[in-house]
Amino acid sequence: MEASALKKTKLSPYAGCCFVIPTKHAKSIAIAIALHFAEILGAGVVEYIVDTDTLGTFSGEVERKGNALECAKEKCLLSNNRLNKDLVLTLASEGSFGPHPKMPFIPCNHEVLYLIDKKYDFHLHVSHSSTNTNYCMQTINSLEELHKFATKALFPSHALILRPNDRVCTTFIYKGISNSEELEQIFAKCKAISNDSKVWVETDMRAHVNPTRMSVISELALKLAKRLESLCPKCSIPGWGQVDHEKGLPCRECGLATEAVKSKTLSCIKCDHIESLAIACAEKLAEPEFCFNCNP
Ligand SMILES: [Zn+2]
Ligand SMILES: [Zn+2]
Repeated sequence: MEASALKKTKLSPYAGCCFVIPTKHAKSIAIAIALHFAEILGAGVVEYIVDTDTLGTFSGEVERKGNALECAKEKCLLSNNRLNKDLVLTLASEGSFGPHPKMPFIPCNHEVLYLIDKKYDFHLHVSHSSTNTNYCMQTINSLEELHKFATKALFPSHALILRPNDRVCTTFIYKGISNSEELEQIFAKCKAISNDSKVWVETDMRAHVNPTRMSVISELALKLAKRLESLCPKCSIPGWGQVDHEKGLPCRECGLATEAVKSKTLSCIKCDHIESLAIACAEKLAEPEFCFNCNP
């Protein structure tokens, strides 16, 4: 038997389990998660449709309290309270958008997946940041500017949001626009009621109308599935994985410490077991481009 076939015969700790995903929009993030969870964990996912907008919206009508992580946790707790306090596995997603922390001119999508696991009794979250996003916004004046923006924003496969430029009144906000005729009609409407005759346009970042964001969530779901597949070498609880890292891998050229990762810390989510995984060794050295000394 081949190694891969052998691995498949070993049941994951979640084989046959079902993860509940609270979401406002049907066929939302579950699509991105279902494939990886089925393949890696042998588990299913089911959506629980609940109004998560009370916890905040991307377009700002409801301001989000707390950061993305706190909000994702809140979504899990909200659905556990509404649905069933004994829900075994609840998983929520939350995204945020803004300038990249190190490259301020590049937009960035930060995603969090938060899990409350009552089967093994732990909370776990994974997150990552991706520059793969169409996130942008602009004040526009003409149809020409509108079409230019739409092309840049990957419209119509990715939806847009339009509203009068003053943005004070939240009644006139048109979300999920995904065809050209509708876009032009709503543009005219917003222009007519706008105080300065200008229109505000932004990308709709909700996952079900934004395939790029969906693919970022999918990558993160893969990371979570792999993490849940890994068992603690000491107590065998799932969720074993990297919690920290240390930079300073020596440079191949000059031998000084670089920005490259030197060691990783793996930890159990339940017991106190920790392992440090050193990357630095004779064969593994950092390339000089990561070195402040060789490449200032
Ligand atoms: Zn453990
Ligand atoms: Zn160097």
